[in-house]
Amino acid sequence: MSLGMPRVPAVRGRLKDTPVAGEKKVLLAAPRGYCAGVDRAVIAVEKALEHYGAPVYVRKQIVHNIHVVTELEKQGAIFVEEVDEVPEGEHIVFSAHGVSPAVVGAAADRGLHAIDATCPLVTKVHREAVRFARDDYEILLIGHEGHEEVEGTAGEAPDHVTLVNSPDDVPNIEVQDPDKVVWLSQTTLSVDETMETVRRLRERFPNLQDPPSDDICYATQNRQVAIKKVAQGADLVIVVGSANSSNSVRLVEVALEYGAKAAYRVDFSTQIEQSWLDGVETVGVTSGASVPEGLVQEVLIELADAGYGEVEEVKTAEEDLMFSLPKELRKDLKGSGRARGAAQH
Ligand code: SF4
Repeated sequence: MSLGMPRVPAVRGRLKDTPVAGEKKVLLAAPRGYCAGVDRAVIAVEKALEHYGAPVYVRKQIVHNIHVVTELEKQGAIFVEEVDEVPEGEHIVFSAHGVSPAVVGAAADRGLHAIDATCPLVTKVHREAVRFARDDYEILLIGHEGHEEVEGTAGEAPDHVTLVNSPDDVPNIEVQDPDKVVWLSQTTLSVDETMETVRRLRERFPNLQDPPSDDICYATQNRQVAIKKVAQGADLVIVVGSANSSNSVRLVEVALEYGAKAAYRVDFSTQIEQSWLDGVETVGVTSGASVPEGLVQEVLIELADAGYGEVEEVKTAEEDLMFSLPKELRKDLKGSGRARGAAQH
């Protein structure tokens, strides 16, 4: 798709070849970059623009990547914080991170045509929250306060959810019935830190129930496994991803925990600083689940210019998951005879 295509960097040769005794190379993590939920959400906005015409409104950033958002704005998407900013009767796309029932209701009250691009793996966690709340469980939701996904999930059962930000929160958690508690989590957390939080919660509440299946999604887990392997052999790790991308920020933390001497996050290749490469032989490279591959290729070009032309891929998993487009969009595309192509995604 267009947003993932490599672009030629505006400035080449920005980084100087750094003097290093040994052989300089890049370890490129795989899997990296776009996951199935992000791919679907971005295509949903593109198809909506194609089918309904601009503008199409999007609540919050469709995915947490500044490049993706800017490119969609150029195509006619308008990003808003809340549904009351959207003129009545217009189309609005809900982002991959999901929304609470209150937001769905507010959009309906305004007569908006909503296209729900919530990742199906986030929707799965919403359903778990609804089910456990119906069975009168207290839900300990492990996640980051203020993150859109956490707001959406908590909004499914606000009276039953207590947010747990980190392992350090655990001593302060109060529940009414310690025998009727379950933990759920945001999909994009550090697997290791989440397991530590669960371990401490279980020390306090031995009858704590687990979710029916992993809430941390396959893409988050796969990217962390790959960067763990890369980090063991890298002096420096560069993670391509935006500051508000939870899974990208986690990749930096995981790289440091697993042996990288330094790790930095960049949105664009031009943010790589010459000093980061001083004395560095091996650079690990990866990208978050909302990052188009073109941005990674630009980083590789910059690194090649600095003498790191040899690239070895470190692959720890194959990914072939794809999700169908949001049902509202599929229905409208089918009506216009365009559903065939869209159903591929
Ligand atoms: S990171 Fe995981 S939960 Fe989030 S959109 Fe991608 S697949 Fe879905």
